[in-house]
Amino acid sequence: MFAKTFGCCRKVYNLMLSDKIEGYKATGKFPAVTPAKYKKDYPYLKEVDSLALANKQLDLQEAFRNRFSKSRKEKNGFPKFKSAKHSRKSYTTNNQHGTVTIIDNRYIKLPKVGKVRAVIHRIPDNAWIIKSATISQESDGKHYISILFEFENAANPYVADKTNAVGLDYASDGLYVDSNGKVGTNHKYYRESHDKLAKAQRKLSHKQGSKKHEVKSNNYIKQLRKVNKIHRHIANQRLDNLHKISTEIANQYDIVCVESLNMKSMSNKGFGNGKATLDNGYGMFLSMLEYKLSDRNKYLVKVDKWFPSSRLCHRCGILHPEMKDLTIRKMQCDCGLTISRDQNAAINILNEGLRLLTEVA
Ligand SMILES: [Zn+2]
Repeated sequence: MFAKTFGCCRKVYNLMLSDKIEGYKATGKFPAVTPAKYKKDYPYLKEVDSLALANKQLDLQEAFRNRFSKSRKEKNGFPKFKSAKHSRKSYTTNNQHGTVTIIDNRYIKLPKVGKVRAVIHRIPDNAWIIKSATISQESDGKHYISILFEFENAANPYVADKTNAVGLDYASDGLYVDSNGKVGTNHKYYRESHDKLAKAQRKLSHKQGSKKHEVKSNNYIKQLRKVNKIHRHIANQRLDNLHKISTEIANQYDIVCVESLNMKSMSNKGFGNGKATLDNGYGMFLSMLEYKLSDRNKYLVKVDKWFPSSRLCHRCGILHPEMKDLTIRKMQCDCGLTISRDQNAAINILNEGLRLLTEVA
């Protein structure tokens, strides 16, 4: 039923898109389209969850809005037809008075599908209300359901203590260095998985189907699933680690000062560390920190990326132009201070962040 629903969603999306394009050719306007009109010609559409199809209509509307909106700086391209091979297999259904429910923390009930045995990763609170469920099949062949809940946010009376603050400096070889000199890292977990991945990919390259015009053998497809499974495992490990570290910081500190980074320019070749940057997901880490702190009535302060955090001596304030050279890992100042480049930057970010905070308050 999942496979059938993915297929029907794709079919309806493509039919609606095609009708919009044809309508535009005939009248000069994009007509409104709904999934309902296709059910006569394609009766099998009636067999799947109608809300899944209705949500595809919303997706298409969104795609058109993004294409033609004037306010967005970067417009999206014209909506594309979804191919059977390359499109993401997923659909979303909404909970209507209990049509989506979790049963005994072991099953999920879904419209048209019924009870599905599932591993529930996080037991929801009784007061939470299920809004929708998105069912997807990932490249490792497994099915996942992600459930959206709604709940009342209890007023949090906590007032942040502005003396309990820390500064973080981005570190390309780890994750960050904080103003106390502590290093937050990301890499120790999944070195092992990377070795496994390399091995699995090497094996894949020997199977029939790895070359461009070869017919893909069953063994190739089997091995590809294994490779994708390891990819997913690595992504999960990374996410898990980022969650752990960001939660720890959000629990420990009330004010966290960071440098706002332009991730695009950091990952470019000129910087010489593109791979490491993309790999450790610092941007994702910052957005986790932001919402976790805000949930606790605490603050994330972003210092301007042009602030010369790594070039100022935090003790006497003198500018050290030589620190522009990233290979210099220690700052030696005439005032007598010798400190690691990253910790000095983190202290400067902390001080600048606190200054900005008092300016606002
Ligand atoms: Zn100094």
